[in-house]
Amino acid sequence: MKIHEYQAKELFKEYGVPVPQGAAAFSEEEAVTTAQSLGGWPVVVKAQIHAGGRGKGGGVKLASGEDEVKSLAAQMFGMNLVTHQTGPEGKEVKKLLIEAGQNIEKELYLSLLVDRETACVVIMASRAGGMDIEEVAEKTPEEIIRVYVNPLMGISPYQLREAAFGLGLPSAAMKPFMKLLNNLYDFFVKNDCSLVEINPLILTSEHEVLALDAKVDFDSNAMFRHKELAELRDLDEENPLEVAASKYNLNYINLDGNVGNIVNGAGLAMATMDIIKNAGAEPANFMDVGGGATAEMVENAFRIILSDDKVKAVLINIFGGILRCDIFANGVVEAAKSTGLDIPVVVRMEGTNVEEGKKILAESGLKLTSADDLTDAAEKIAAAVN
Ligand code: GDP
Ligand code: MN
Repeated sequence: MKIHEYQAKELFKEYGVPVPQGAAAFSEEEAVTTAQSLGGWPVVVKAQIHAGGRGKGGGVKLASGEDEVKSLAAQMFGMNLVTHQTGPEGKEVKKLLIEAGQNIEKELYLSLLVDRETACVVIMASRAGGMDIEEVAEKTPEEIIRVYVNPLMGISPYQLREAAFGLGLPSAAMKPFMKLLNNLYDFFVKNDCSLVEINPLILTSEHEVLALDAKVDFDSNAMFRHKELAELRDLDEENPLEVAASKYNLNYINLDGNVGNIVNGAGLAMATMDIIKNAGAEPANFMDVGGGATAEMVENAFRIILSDDKVKAVLINIFGGILRCDIFANGVVEAAKSTGLDIPVVVRMEGTNVEEGKKILAESGLKLTSADDLTDAAEKIAAAVN
């Protein structure tokens, strides 16, 4: 679960990770009063969307007076901000962060993430801050320092020093940086983060070390034990179909193709996407209704997929184990009736009560094509969309 920069910075403050003075603004008036309260110029007006690269897209600007804040706020509210992370359709700006402008001496990069291979929290740091870290990793990988922290041991002073020396910090910045990193690690672990990225972390002319940007991603599977964090979720920033699916406990991810999929089990879903691609078509989504799906969940899954305009055909691939084929078939029929199904649907079904399931589908009066096996299903669905 992602949160906004302004929310991440509020949390950073609580954990002793220094950030510039500032606050969120939800209207032009609020942007001006917040700017005034910062007690000096310039201030920075920052568009709040769940994507990086805002600076280059015109979503981060300096203002040297009230009038300028007002006109920048007017410009940014409602603006469709396009960055390399939003995709060409962009994101509408509904919130701003107004911050005290900083005198930047140096921009650094700092992030923490979970490394699955070593089962450690890896600290990544680089002197090449403010730039795209993917680009740094590709062109000058030696500029990225990695320090692996075993979560059972916690972070040790020598690891803080390793990161600090690796960044080549001036001596005045060593202690504040190590304190910041120690606190950031604490924040990361206590809140079940999967990623924290500060790009840039800055050294100011006043020898302060500050998080100028803040990107935080929490492990969604851990949100049940962080009720206060779950409130920070901004549904405006998420795909509406994914939000709808999460309400019904469906495992759904929106993709770019035109073949909708309904599958039970994540492994089967991956395999199904592979066979669709292999047959020369592109999946429009990943939809795993799970092993214990009810007819109602199946119905909702089907409805969500059909409400996606880019879906031109649906492939249903079910292996009935705990989920019985007849229950599944009833869900499909209900959903098809309530949505007025008007695109081709290919069904491949095996397992418990498969005969009853097939009978329900056959007697439903719906135009469904049945497939004998996976290959047959893939070929039929590809023929339907191509
Ligand atoms: P991003 O483009 O979405 O990653 O947004 P950032 O928060 O990283 O801001 C982009 C860039 O704006 C930073 O890398 C800085 O160079 C610049 N910037 C942000 N705040 C300030 C500030 O207070 N003073 C100055 N001089 N530049 C700033
Ligand atoms: Mn940034």
